Amino acid sequence: MEAIKQAPLKIIFILSLSMALALNACGQSKNDNQMALNMETVSKPKNPYYSHTDTTKLHLTDAEWKKILPEDLYEVSRHAATERPFTGKYWNADIKGTYYCAACGNELFRSEAKFASTCGWPSFFEQENKNSTVFRQDSSLGMIRTEVLCARCGGHLGHIFDDGPPPTGKRYCMNSIAMDFVPDTP
Ligand SMILES: [Zn+2]
Repeated sequence: MEAIKQAPLKIIFILSLSMALALNACGQSKNDNQMALNMETVSKPKNPYYSHTDTTKLHLTDAEWKKILPEDLYEVSRHAATERPFTGKYWNADIKGTYYCAACGNELFRSEAKFASTCGWPSFFEQENKNSTVFRQDSSLGMIRTEVLCARCGGHLGHIFDDGPPPTGKRYCMNSIAMDFVPDTP
């Protein structure tokens, strides 16, 4: 009788132990990621146009961009490539700070406008100011979508959709590669 009573308890114990381990494993990797983001600094020795304060619009040729941008950023920013979901470094980041265009340094989003989206890309419900991004109709891949571009350099950032949370109902679906993050100083 005792043995029968104890068996389910044992199973529950093992189950909760493995759940705790699984949760801990998730928490661990997320914490590591957050810690790395907390220590992020931006250094662009090859890019003389990069600035967090200069808002002068940039009109560079494709060849000039190719010279100053890393290859993965060049492909996203200048040729609208899309990073694979759940692979970028910001899709599940939730620490306080500011997101900038990785190609030119233009201020794009504050972390307060970021929300947990299940799509696998960093998502925001509003841009930081009217000079942050501009929109363009995109009919590539057989879909009509609205492309989001950096208002300073014209670089591709991602797309915007109407399924975001209040107050705007918008979802700016961005590529992590196209952005730099600078954490707030405590
Ligand atoms: Zn830019």
